[in-house]
Amino acid sequence: MVLEARSVTKHFPVRRTGRDLVAGRRRTVHAVDDVSLELRRGTVTALVGESGSGKSTVARLLARLHPLTGGEIRLDGAAVKAGRGRSFRAYVRRVQLIFQDPFASLNPVHTVRYHLTRALRIHGRAGSGEAELEENLTALLNRVQLTPPHQYLDRFPHELSGGQRQRVAIARALGADPQVLLADEPVSMLDVSIRLGVLNLLKDLKDRLRLAILYITHDIASARYFADTTLVMYAGRIVEGGDSETVTQRPAHPYTQLLIASAPDPDRVAAEAEQEETGGGEPPSLIDPPPGCRFHPRCPKAMERCRTELPPRFDLEGGQWAACWLYADGTETGHGTETGHGAAGHGAAGHGLRKESAA
Ligand code: SF4
Repeated sequence: MVLEARSVTKHFPVRRTGRDLVAGRRRTVHAVDDVSLELRRGTVTALVGESGSGKSTVARLLARLHPLTGGEIRLDGAAVKAGRGRSFRAYVRRVQLIFQDPFASLNPVHTVRYHLTRALRIHGRAGSGEAELEENLTALLNRVQLTPPHQYLDRFPHELSGGQRQRVAIARALGADPQVLLADEPVSMLDVSIRLGVLNLLKDLKDRLRLAILYITHDIASARYFADTTLVMYAGRIVEGGDSETVTQRPAHPYTQLLIASAPDPDRVAAEAEQEETGGGEPPSLIDPPPGCRFHPRCPKAMERCRTELPPRFDLEGGQWAACWLYADGTETGHGTETGHGAAGHGAAGHGLRKESAA
């Protein structure tokens, strides 16, 4: 394992309104609560959830763009200390973040050459002379399949397609020679026709460079295609984990089932019927999240205890797990086991509760 989050929590204070001052209250957004995950070299871990679920905040916490409220991050088994000094620069060299919008992440007044040269220089990988720098720039563009490289080096971002811009952003991240890529919705702003190409590129980099990739997405179908492990996040908590095939084909948690039913599918009619059954609904406010299971206001299987008691993680077969009271006494699987890890972690494989339309 290269990068690990242990019970990571992030709360943001909300600016106080007049009403808050009168009531003497301070409110916080519970953006991320008790999230644990492990990223391993040569594997992709998908973190899937609706917008506002906290998944992008997890990526930013792992990139150390925000301080933690609680928990810890470990790199190669060692706890990462807060601060912006030399250790932060060393951390950033190894853990790089790719943003959703490649146009916003590239400076429009600078060329590809400028962006990549700067990344190589910051991370001490530019080489000792102009010839070596040129070689390194060429190698970066070859690695992201922008070839021939000389056709791209002196272009500005607006002269590139969305997919090409995202490839430049990936090349810039690779300029640090990282071990971990945190990819925050890396294809969601690209045309559908070029998404697969960028995902295939990331897959290729994972294999060739043995990168550990965290793939943040709202598209659970792409997680099945692209990720080895899938974690599902709802309202700031991870509610299910397992190998991607199992989580997407045999989802255990009612929220994962809803996500799959909502994904584009040829069997759309059945999916919509399912959504109606669950009431659809919106994710809760994270300023004052519901007590107990945060999914209970939308869950068609909610029980009395769901409204007051936070479900811990229950292990299912083959490493799959779900934070859901349905598995407390094995009623859904015949073998749910509380592990005491809270609603967090990773894992794999299967059981029941699956909707027919989600297959
Ligand atoms: Fe639904 Fe209860 Fe499971 Fe939450 S714990 S997902 S409310 S059944």
